[in-house]
Amino acid sequence: MKVNEDYLKLPGSYLFSTIAKKVAAYREAHPDADIIRLGIGDVTRPLPPAVIAALHKAVDEQAVAETFRGYAPDLGYAFLREAMAEHDFQARGCEIAADEIFISDGAKSDSANIQEIFGRDCRIAVCDPVYPVYVDSNVMAGRTGDYDAATGIWSRVIYMPCTAENGFVPELPEEKPDLIYLCYPNNPTGGAITKDQLQRFVDYANETGAVIIYDAAYEAYIREGEGIPHSVYECDGARTCAIELRSFSKNAGFTGLRLGATVIPHDLKTRSGDREVELHSLWARRHGTKYNGAPYIVQRAGEACYSEAGKAEIRELIGGYMRNAGLIRKGLEEAGYEVYGGVHSPYVWLKTPDRLTSWEFFDRLLEQVQVVGTPGSGFGPHGEHYFRLTAFGSYENSVRAIERIRSL
Ligand code: PLP
Repeated sequence: MKVNEDYLKLPGSYLFSTIAKKVAAYREAHPDADIIRLGIGDVTRPLPPAVIAALHKAVDEQAVAETFRGYAPDLGYAFLREAMAEHDFQARGCEIAADEIFISDGAKSDSANIQEIFGRDCRIAVCDPVYPVYVDSNVMAGRTGDYDAATGIWSRVIYMPCTAENGFVPELPEEKPDLIYLCYPNNPTGGAITKDQLQRFVDYANETGAVIIYDAAYEAYIREGEGIPHSVYECDGARTCAIELRSFSKNAGFTGLRLGATVIPHDLKTRSGDREVELHSLWARRHGTKYNGAPYIVQRAGEACYSEAGKAEIRELIGGYMRNAGLIRKGLEEAGYEVYGGVHSPYVWLKTPDRLTSWEFFDRLLEQVQVVGTPGSGFGPHGEHYFRLTAFGSYENSVRAIERIRSL
């Protein structure tokens, strides 16, 4: 027996395990320390009442023979796909039909699995810093070449630096990729992309034959009226070059329930020899073979997010997190930090003071004021000298953490 050697190429999950070890060591040395965590990427507030009501109702349906449901349809229930098509896309002028939406258990698995439908020699381009799943899933598939531990760089990956200098929106890549992963509003930088900037990527992809994989997990955090698109399909020509990933985790708090979707328009096609291939049909085949669907009760909960009550409750939920983001941002700015993000995103991204490395700043915050954040360098080489704080904690802890950081 041989294992998949590509898995052995993966560097260990250095970032979060190192954070956990450092915090545990500190706690052991200081058992009474009151540590505040502003590093968490998980939501903390309960599910909206409209979602809870829909869950209860769907559970009761499962107790009665007439309304019991077993396997869900491969691609998801029509009631949810239709609600998404209408509210997430058509209401924003995007031409997306219900049968172009594939319901799933979240954007993490979809963002990791989508690479399967592309050739093994495809080259990927990613933002640097980046949500690690895009790269690691391609490592497992043998697509990324060799890893240089000193630089943290894979030889076959095209990196698109995102820094304060370019407003955290990359230039078009110089080398031509086959797949371009974009995530806006961005994790970890908190940056947003304007429609004009995204249109440049869409035009580039259509000109070069590349496919954009657009992760819209944080679209609900976008502040209206500033030209920030909620979907890649707001751009002209995106139907022929873009796949979009959607999640119910960060808008409606489904991180534990699990629900997401992938959108693949029928116009997204490529050629294989003299055959024309729709990527939609490949993903449908993959879904049908490897996946048995998100639970009925969870899809009903997802549907409830689009009711009038659900929409209002989600706005309030996000408003609460964004209140934290605004407070963290303002407090840091007043303390003299260079601060980014936190406007269209629950992530605040700051430049470390005194040219400290990301890890040196992590140690300083933990040891001097007992606040835990996430070192930017853990998301890629261009994250060095940056640091991520999140708005997902409680209001009280956000206030206390910022007071402490200001006292430094
Ligand atoms: N995409 C990005 C950029 C994320 O930051 C996360 C979660 O942190 C996900 C996807 C995962 O979403 P889900 O909970 O739907 O799997």
